[in-house]
Amino acid sequence: MDKTELATAVNRRRTFAIISHPDAGKTTITEQLLLFGGVIRKAGTVKGKKSGQFAKSDWMEIEKQRGISVTSSVMQFDYQGKRINILDTPGHEDFSEDTYRTLMAVDSAVMVIDAAKGIEPQTKKLFKVCRMRGIPIFTFMNKLDRDSREPMDLIAELEDLLDIEAYPMNWPIGMGKGLEGLYDIHNQRVELYHEDEQGQRYLPVDADGQIIGDHRLKQESIYQQALENVQLLLEAGNKFDADKIAKGEQTPVFFGSALTNFGVKTFLESYLDYAPAPAAHKTQADQVITPTAQEFSGFVFKIQANMNPNHRDRIAFIRICSGEFDRGMDVTLQRTQRKLRLANSTEFMADSREVVETAVAGDIVGLYDTGNFQIGDTIYTGKQNIQFENLPQFTPELFVKVTAKNVMKQKSFHKGMEQLVQEGAVQLYRTYVTNDYVLGAVGQLQFEVFQFRMKNEYNSDVVMEPMGEKIARWIDPEQLDEKMSSSRNLLVRDRNGAPLFLFENQFAERWFKQKYPEIKLTEKLSTD
Ligand code: GDP
Repeated sequence: MDKTELATAVNRRRTFAIISHPDAGKTTITEQLLLFGGVIRKAGTVKGKKSGQFAKSDWMEIEKQRGISVTSSVMQFDYQGKRINILDTPGHEDFSEDTYRTLMAVDSAVMVIDAAKGIEPQTKKLFKVCRMRGIPIFTFMNKLDRDSREPMDLIAELEDLLDIEAYPMNWPIGMGKGLEGLYDIHNQRVELYHEDEQGQRYLPVDADGQIIGDHRLKQESIYQQALENVQLLLEAGNKFDADKIAKGEQTPVFFGSALTNFGVKTFLESYLDYAPAPAAHKTQADQVITPTAQEFSGFVFKIQANMNPNHRDRIAFIRICSGEFDRGMDVTLQRTQRKLRLANSTEFMADSREVVETAVAGDIVGLYDTGNFQIGDTIYTGKQNIQFENLPQFTPELFVKVTAKNVMKQKSFHKGMEQLVQEGAVQLYRTYVTNDYVLGAVGQLQFEVFQFRMKNEYNSDVVMEPMGEKIARWIDPEQLDEKMSSSRNLLVRDRNGAPLFLFENQFAERWFKQKYPEIKLTEKLSTD
């Protein structure tokens, strides 16, 4: 591609993650979006946990058994001249660092909320990560075909709990059984839930919001009520502000029903109007790499082993930050300064994985990996030595002690441990004196997945002894004295050999700080 072609290709990319609390309707809306895309090979069910047909994006056996999605998959489709990459995030309460990292690889996020439930805990956690990155957040209030909470309440709650301005792009006219449609503020029209007798879905409105021409809905009190609310909002509420949306300070809110495919198209089209094209990325040396730069660069945000049980492969997911990816190209792996040939690449679909020949900044590619990559790695072409900023590390809160059930099978145990830890799904620590294995994670599910995979992929039965919640704090090795360790704080090494204490509770941490006021404790891994 020449410069202009590359710029055109990059600027039509829109890459977002879809986040929600489990059961809010993320899978359903993803499916609808894929159907609009049309070009998707086969927009079959993305999942089907209720129908008994398993999701194609749920690769792992454990996902099948539980009907949950624990890995993030990537889907791509074209719509109105744009190429859209959707990154799915694990749909379980015990979400993992994977979800956080996925949010590092996107340019915007779509938050799906069950309008009957409002903001749920997981939404709040994920939302925080989006805010930290300052990426645009689009909100879809789902399940309007059922009795939901008052839209005004939902908006107020969103603003309160998430500390963001909300701007309703449309407003429900009725809900549940009485759902008539949406008053589309942004496009100045009414969108009907069911086509009317003339086969119309959209009705034009005048400057006062009254339906132009003759229509049954015009006289309905439910319509006049919706209109009153809208007028109130337009006068007293937030003003639509594209700049604020771009900075993630205002979220456009859309109402709809994913299941009945109502409001999803309007949402998608408005999303495409305001969602940003691939953003520039900063390097550790504070350089800014623009996506349309000719040299290729990207970073690994996720590693997934053995997605295909027949191949036992490992795949490194790369967010392309600049330039163009070509199959077979040579790149430099920054960490080792070694050259690598990227011969085996793969693109992700809900249905199948296809070989990708080229991809550009904004796209996600998966590379078959034989152990070259680690999470956070930067790869690039050209002479400039680039290392993108570190992905944030989230301090684990839950810990277990792990041993192999069968002492004769230490070899497979160690191999499995090493590989799964490298994927970054769990954090590994070793105790100081006895060199025991301790695993740390953000949620319990990660341990279960770990145990399951150790058995299935490495034929190693592991015994996990829960240690409960701990507070992990790193300590400067220079300041460390092993005598500081007590029954209330377990001293361990992380996988880079850096020492840290796992404190029983806040009390234990406070006590430690009082006893050793000169010791500096840090919360997060600085580098990995
Ligand atoms: P996820 O866990 O966020 O991926 O949620 P799903 O998409 O799997 O949806 C959870 C359940 O809610 C499923 O039974 C869906 O059929 C249902 N659902 C999703 N969207 C809607 C909707 O708009 N209306 C109604 N009534 N049900 C919905």
